[in-house]
Amino acid sequence: MDNQQSLFETLNPPQRLLMGPGPINAYPRVHQALSQSLIGQYDPVMTGYMNQVQSLYRGVFQTNNQHTLLVDGTARSGIEAVLVSVLKPGDKVLIPVIGRFGHLLCEIARRVGAEIRTIDIEWGGVCTAEQVEAEIKRFQPKLLATVQGDTSTTMNQPLKEIGEVCHRHGVLFYCDATASIAGNELKVDEWHLDAVSAGLQKCLGGPSGSSPITLSEQCADVINRRKHVEAGIRADHHQEGGDMMIQSNYFDLSMIMDYWGPERLNHHTEATSMLYAARECARLFLEEGIENTIARHKQAGHALAKGLSAMGLRLFGDQTQKMNNVVGVYIPEEVQGDEVRAELLNRFGIEIGTSFGPLHGKIWRIGTMGYNARQDCVLTTLAALEAILIRHRARIDVGQAVCAAMECYR
Ligand SMILES: *Cc1c(COP(=O)(O)O)cnc(C)c1O
Repeated sequence: MDNQQSLFETLNPPQRLLMGPGPINAYPRVHQALSQSLIGQYDPVMTGYMNQVQSLYRGVFQTNNQHTLLVDGTARSGIEAVLVSVLKPGDKVLIPVIGRFGHLLCEIARRVGAEIRTIDIEWGGVCTAEQVEAEIKRFQPKLLATVQGDTSTTMNQPLKEIGEVCHRHGVLFYCDATASIAGNELKVDEWHLDAVSAGLQKCLGGPSGSSPITLSEQCADVINRRKHVEAGIRADHHQEGGDMMIQSNYFDLSMIMDYWGPERLNHHTEATSMLYAARECARLFLEEGIENTIARHKQAGHALAKGLSAMGLRLFGDQTQKMNNVVGVYIPEEVQGDEVRAELLNRFGIEIGTSFGPLHGKIWRIGTMGYNARQDCVLTTLAALEAILIRHRARIDVGQAVCAAMECYR
């Protein structure tokens, strides 16, 4: 009943240290950006910000691609926008699957009605360029779609050689770099990537809700052949593409490119606050420097791994192919993984990650990303985890972890 409607309490979420595989704590400057005043989407100031965001993300992606912009939604929205805009029903797509997010690419491509061929890699490994080339020769796909860093397995798929193979065979190359961007090397133009999508809530150090993407000219041409300008805003000079219309309106990248292009043709209402956040994430990354930021992630990930090993815990996966920013660690057999995680959260306010699929119940995943790729975050997490594991009578080496991690910072 209306007069019993509760207003609950004023929003006051607890302070957490988010050390899972994402989301993470955002940089303070990103919170500031999020709280700035709203302006209209056709305000010349807003047009200026949109142009700045395009320029900044060209820097983030290391590309000269004109079509570098934000899809409004979480990282999955960028993935879906690329796949529904590029793939028509019956188009062939080759998908190396190294973990959960590879399955997501298959799932979206299946909904589009594409013909899918996968290269299935056991969780904890990566796909080689030789495997890709052999399958490209057999299958002749239009698109190769894969994930760079897959947080479900902590592996980082090497892209440079796969890019060369795709380039040589005239196959479009798309990659989901959400988990890896800003914490690991990613050179879009140099590695011949045609489409890349990302999100803010991993190493870019923002909240989820915006998906930066970049498209090569060749990829944009393929998409624009399916161009359709909505009735109500269509003018005489607009040309329709000859190919089949893109089956999603919201994720129609031909319309979104026009929205971000010189004509600023109306599509959705730009998510202003998220654009402010995305802009600040890119500024922070480029201000610190691409190499410095990646080195900071590498150091934090390394220190965490050293600490866990010193405790006597076993690390998951091929350590030579691992992302810098997430560590997978086997849960000691003597303890209940979820109980340890709950106690970390309730006593210390620290969140670490569980895992999916074949790894469920077997490993924890601990992230050191963006604002949290710091020595104090690593040391606090190790100290807290050790204390809880002692209470749970895990057979670990006590008193080693924090010092071992400190050795990585001198
Ligand atoms: C974390 C992650 C995402 C996140 O997608 P959301 O839609 O933002 O939840 C996507 N892809 C990869 C590879 C990720 O690691």
